[in-house]
Amino acid sequence: MSGEERSYRAQGIVLGARALGEADRIVRFLTREHGKLDAVAKGARRPKSRIGGRLELAGRVEMMLHRGRSLDVVVSVEERSRRWAALVEPERLTVASLVLERVDVLCEPGEPVPEIFDLLESTLEAIAKSERPHRFIARFSLRLLDVLGSMPPAESCCLCAERLEEIAWLDASEGGFLDAKCRRPHREEIALGRIDRENFAALGRARGAGAVLEARPHAAAAIEALIAHYCARPLRVSALPGYAYGPL
Ligand SMILES: [Zn+2]
Repeated sequence: MSGEERSYRAQGIVLGARALGEADRIVRFLTREHGKLDAVAKGARRPKSRIGGRLELAGRVEMMLHRGRSLDVVVSVEERSRRWAALVEPERLTVASLVLERVDVLCEPGEPVPEIFDLLESTLEAIAKSERPHRFIARFSLRLLDVLGSMPPAESCCLCAERLEEIAWLDASEGGFLDAKCRRPHREEIALGRIDRENFAALGRARGAGAVLEARPHAAAAIEALIAHYCARPLRVSALPGYAYGPL
């Protein structure tokens, strides 16, 4: 293998990290070109490490990596967007950690999805500048599901495909809305009226296509239920074993 093939460049956003050995770190990135990947940042926990100093949570970097036998190694890092100073504010940090975790859980390693990279980048930028960062969670989460092909239609029953009446029920275990005929009432279902479902649909639209940012409470609850279903468990910040979504 030539030197060129063993090295490659990538744009990455730092999703999280964990310690390795005495001084190294395994850093998890979402890269635009190669999807989610873990790479070793050698010496990154030493106080004067140049690489360590440039890898901060939620930051966007451009880097050179070297293919390793099991994990690739970060060879050099250039910072493209530093957000840490803006994100240390508690509410921003909570929301940023939550969006990073959702991307981590829902994206498969090694499968590039540039739309998700761009969605994460623009959402982190918005969170870093916002006084009310919680308002970005619902739309971000539904856009994530849409890009992954898991956003249900808001006008038709997901089992029989018939047009929904005034009230429909979100059943996350079925992955969508049900009509009165198909619904099997249970505690977790969420009833949404027409206005709530219109809000749901608008939250999931790509920018410019009649999209909205503000979620009505029932639409937000429906999105959270779908996210919990696709993540196979309720999502909590820092729930992944071994990975810290806090300061590196
Ligand atoms: Zn039906």
